[in-house]
Amino acid sequence: MSSAACIFCKIIKGEIPSMKLFENDTVFAFLDIGPLSKGHSLVIPKYHGAKLADIPDDQLTDILPTLKKLITATGATDYNILQNNGTIAHQQVHHVHFHMIPKPNETEGLGINWPAT
Ligand code: 5GP
Repeated sequence: MSSAACIFCKIIKGEIPSMKLFENDTVFAFLDIGPLSKGHSLVIPKYHGAKLADIPDDQLTDILPTLKKLITATGATDYNILQNNGTIAHQQVHHVHFHMIPKPNETEGLGINWPAT
């Protein structure tokens, strides 16, 4: 299932360009266009649903293994996995997505303090 108006569905279909990192039958992974740190990436189910509870279980099974692949590929040693649901929870794109946000170390620091402390 996809939504014609959804930007992440368009990215999956290649109608909007992205820096693709991984793809299989159920998931798609790509770099975030507005990275909070070097390697900030997104893992999304191909099934269109706005919130986590909208996605069938069998469409979620590859999400965590894909996040692990990105962690390994970026070499991140400290990182945040973040998943927002709903406008009040700061979700901007209403297609389920998991952020993988490497935490920069002191030598490669980008001046970003995430999460805010
Ligand atoms: P949210 O606040 O919904 O959890 O995060 C949405 C994320 O999607 C943001 O980090 C934003 O930078 C990213 N994003 C929005 N539009 C695009 C796009 O067209 N391409 C890519 N690669 N990332 C996007």
